[in-house]
Amino acid sequence: MNLLDGKLVAEKIKAEIATEVKTKMLDAGREAPHLAAILVGDDPASQTYVASKEKDCLEVGFISSVYRYPANITQDKLLESIRFLNADPEVDGFIVQLPLPKHLDEHTIIESIHPAKDVDGFHPVNVGRMVLNIPSYLPATPYGIVTLLEHYKIETEGKHCVVLGRSNIVGTPISILLSRKSKTGNATVTLCHSHTSDIKAIAASADILIVAMGKKGFVTADMVKKDAVVVDVGIHRIPAKETKSGYRLVGDVDFQEVAKKCSYITPVPGGVGPMTRVSLLLNTLKAAKKEIKF
Ligand code: NAP
Repeated sequence: MNLLDGKLVAEKIKAEIATEVKTKMLDAGREAPHLAAILVGDDPASQTYVASKEKDCLEVGFISSVYRYPANITQDKLLESIRFLNADPEVDGFIVQLPLPKHLDEHTIIESIHPAKDVDGFHPVNVGRMVLNIPSYLPATPYGIVTLLEHYKIETEGKHCVVLGRSNIVGTPISILLSRKSKTGNATVTLCHSHTSDIKAIAASADILIVAMGKKGFVTADMVKKDAVVVDVGIHRIPAKETKSGYRLVGDVDFQEVAKKCSYITPVPGGVGPMTRVSLLLNTLKAAKKEIKF
């Protein structure tokens, strides 16, 4: 078994981004890329995610800013803030941290972001372009998975790829990316969800198994074909007396048992998570360079 070491690959990409920012932007008298985030309410997980995005920006020399609003902000007020960021020439890209409080309509909010600044890749224009294989901002987690597979030269062409989970941010877009007629694509993809019959047998037929269900330890060794490639997107905190924090992270896959059977596997932590984070930086860099034309 080989590890798909997302931490290592993400560090390497971050070093490349930092060099590009310094040599091609700052030393050339240009501004560093600027990523902004809108954070509504005080959900601890969302606060942690936004803080790590700020830290990532700092590490590679990006400018970052966070617009914080109370949980009871009105939709109109939030839309006004988005219009401001859409028009601000100093901001290259921005994200609205999800989930939003229930009274805010997520679709309306996402659609109000200008596609050229939608570095999360959630706007329907970016999703549509992704489906049509036109340059777009790819959502960070699927983008990170594809980058990781490319780094380890995992062949996808002609392979059977099974995706467990069909969320808009992970399962559905990764199923599209891997089935597109493209470099890391050309796989035959089966997308499974909670209404799939015989999910175990389908998973066991996968050459590449991507698991994004949010079900701790769901994938056991009997669900994995010998020498398959396994990508575990799930993240769960479980109590652990031996750690300082009192918890440790595990995924949707029973790592200990599955690792004995597969050819490659992502660890949790240190697999898909760091790749997701670095993908947002890559999208922001593209935005600053106006690489994608809208
Ligand atoms: P989600 O929106 O909750 O979607 C879960 C998907 O799994 C749904 O499509 C659901 O089917 C399916 N599912 C749930 N239980 C199932 C079962 N017993 N059998 C078959 N299908 C089942 O999840 P998500 O946002 O994609 O996140 C998935 C996991 O990845 C979570 O643990 C999340 O924390 C983690 N995550 C990690 C990263 C990272 O950077 N590492 C990024 C994003 C998410 P239905 O559609 O039929 O309900």
